[in-house]
Amino acid sequence: MMRTPIMAGNWKMHKTAREAVDFVTNLQKELGDWKETEAVVAPPFMALAPVAECLKGGTIALAAQNCFWEEQGAYTGEVSAPMLRDVGCRYVIIGHSERRAYFGETDETVNKKVKAVLSSGLQPIICVGESLEERERGDTVQIVERQVKEGLKGLDETAVPSIVIAYEPLWAIGTGKTATPEQAQEVHASIRGLLSSIFNPEGAQDIRIQYGGSVKPGNVDELMAQPDIDGALVGGASLDVESFARIVRFEKK
Ligand code: PEP
Repeated sequence: MMRTPIMAGNWKMHKTAREAVDFVTNLQKELGDWKETEAVVAPPFMALAPVAECLKGGTIALAAQNCFWEEQGAYTGEVSAPMLRDVGCRYVIIGHSERRAYFGETDETVNKKVKAVLSSGLQPIICVGESLEERERGDTVQIVERQVKEGLKGLDETAVPSIVIAYEPLWAIGTGKTATPEQAQEVHASIRGLLSSIFNPEGAQDIRIQYGGSVKPGNVDELMAQPDIDGALVGGASLDVESFARIVRFEKK
């Protein structure tokens, strides 16, 4: 199966509902009926409903940036996967490094959330990545493989078509330092190898693995030229219509 490239904009804690609607209105104008790449936007929770309304009938998909693993109940401040599905999301970003660093997320909570997302009929974008210290110690592959293995624990092959993995080296997020295409490819290939053993080789070929970390119009083409890089998870550059549209319409090398 051909893997359709997937470019997702993680807006983090940026944009009010009105700003978000203006942004996607312009993005839709810019992208027209572009279908070669799957474009995804992940606004803050408060903007999901109005943005979903705006995206109806179009080609851009909607993602949330997080969710809780229970469906409902006494969990003040949390949002569940069925609620996200109800509002029109297709994807949920799970285990972003900022959530692991500031909000206590662990491989175990990531796994619970991944399962909740899948059982609600949504698709998880599961984030993994090593710190600079871990890379310098030579532990990159070991750390990333642990995060993937624990994040996917207990899943079977029926999950394969729904899963997206995002490899985001922590030292490259928001720093302007991108992993070289070769550095990224090396980790992506090891993730795909691991996916073959968790699921099966065919399944592993179908799973899209995004790279994230200072992806910009100027470096997206060479990253996407790598055989195991199937898209990007984009922070900063996704907040600008022109930049994000250029990333979505990367040039094939
Ligand atoms: C991210 O937060 O997922 C990210 C990759 O951010 P940036 O593109 O700003 O490095």
